[in-house]
Amino acid sequence: AIRIDQIFKNETAHLEKEVTIQGWVRTRRDSKAGISFIEVNDGSCLRNLQVIADRSRPELESVVERLATGCAVQVQGVVQASPGKGQSIEVHAERIDLFGWADPAVYPLQKKRHSFEFLRTIGHLRPRTNTLGAVARIRNRLSFAVHQFFQKEGFFYVHTPIITSSDCEGAGEVFRVTTLDPAAPPAPGNPDGNVYSQDFFEKPAYLTVSGQLQAEIYALALGKVYTFGPTFRAENSNTSRHLAEFWMIEPEMAFYDLQDNLELAQSFIKYVISAVLDDCQEDLNLFARFVEPTLMETLETLVRETFQVITYTEAVEILKKSGESFDYPVEWGTDLQSEHERYLTEKKFRKPVAIIDFPRAIKPFYMRVNDDEKTVAAVDVLVPRVGEIIGGSQREERLDVLLKQMEIKAVPAEEYQWYVDLRRFGSAPHSGFGLGLERLVQFTTGLGNIREVIPFPRTPGHADF
Ligand code: ATP
Ligand code: MG
Ligand code: MG
Ligand code: MG
Repeated sequence: AIRIDQIFKNETAHLEKEVTIQGWVRTRRDSKAGISFIEVNDGSCLRNLQVIADRSRPELESVVERLATGCAVQVQGVVQASPGKGQSIEVHAERIDLFGWADPAVYPLQKKRHSFEFLRTIGHLRPRTNTLGAVARIRNRLSFAVHQFFQKEGFFYVHTPIITSSDCEGAGEVFRVTTLDPAAPPAPGNPDGNVYSQDFFEKPAYLTVSGQLQAEIYALALGKVYTFGPTFRAENSNTSRHLAEFWMIEPEMAFYDLQDNLELAQSFIKYVISAVLDDCQEDLNLFARFVEPTLMETLETLVRETFQVITYTEAVEILKKSGESFDYPVEWGTDLQSEHERYLTEKKFRKPVAIIDFPRAIKPFYMRVNDDEKTVAAVDVLVPRVGEIIGGSQREERLDVLLKQMEIKAVPAEEYQWYVDLRRFGSAPHSGFGLGLERLVQFTTGLGNIREVIPFPRTPGHADF
């Protein structure tokens, strides 16, 4: 069998040739003249391939009459130029095999536009829709581009732990790991009736909220590394850009200062967006037509223009003078809210904005303290529609300053002995950032809700499958 995208990629080479395709029926339409038109999609691309079946042939008729939306089929036939509108080729069926029937009376996906809310209730079927299929292909392209970019830049891919004793101080709410005790008698009070130890084999452990601290270990040995893996935060609120489980890309570089870090972040985002613009045009067009009319413009602006760089202090000034009525007031010393981020990227600068030098008090202990002693060398990259997409910083490499920071922020020194050690033995300036893959997919597709850009969203109350 051949994948449908391969036929579309070189239509002329396949003309008059016999092919076998395998996929799922999207629609079937019967003409009075005894011809059936069957749209087949195999997931390789957005487009369906139209199959023409002559029902005067009994061996075809007996199968075709049962075909409905959702059926899994294999079609053997000859590729012909199509006289129909909307496609240049079609397959004239010689033989059709029905692998799995789908009862049209109960199959939830029909030829109409379903709401995203509805599709979330059928997470096992929604990847068969145009939208979710396109998201999956774009997400795949972005993920691959992540590796392409870092590998070409000489980074090493390291695997930081999922279960960790570090809660990455201040990055977010942690999930704690517990152990099921099979010997214990059932505990009727627990929702699942089981007994759990409080700890991971006698010691407390958590699901990682960031691989940064461990990535620092490897950056200070291999020079340039990145980690790209699942990340967990017990975000107990329902926003359109937070998940309890998401995928984070975290490069960490020795001998990089904040400026180097920012430049890397910029070329990285431009690279991965260009990859999608080059290779996923058809899927992108779907979003540009139905979801976000200014999508292409926003993506092309990002690739073309350099990011606007402003300090946190400047951002606060701009927001105060904006004349906008925000839900949350802006005061120097408070974190920016998504409404502020959107104002800066969508109204003020109309392109990505990098904010640097945040107040020391609102950032974690590991960020490098600036000479003014009031701010740290942090950077947030904001993009239109999504807001924060990257959070990064230069890390504090000076032993005395780090210890002071840990004291101020009440970070337990015993638990971070190894982290302190990195400043005692061959310390070097270093920097890194974290970018949530889902925020990137949201930005790339224009989709408003993060639940649509990950195959299996985990949010409060939802860990289905
Ligand atoms: P936010 O302000 O949006 O809550 P954050 O500042 O808490 O984000 P960081 O700790 O800086 O997030 O993490 C780095 C990046 O990881 C963020 O810029 C974002 O792209 C992504 N990210 C953070 N939390 C989540 C989440 N709950 N779901 C999806 N992506 C997230
Ligand atoms: Mg957060
Ligand atoms: Mg933030
Ligand atoms: Mg952040």
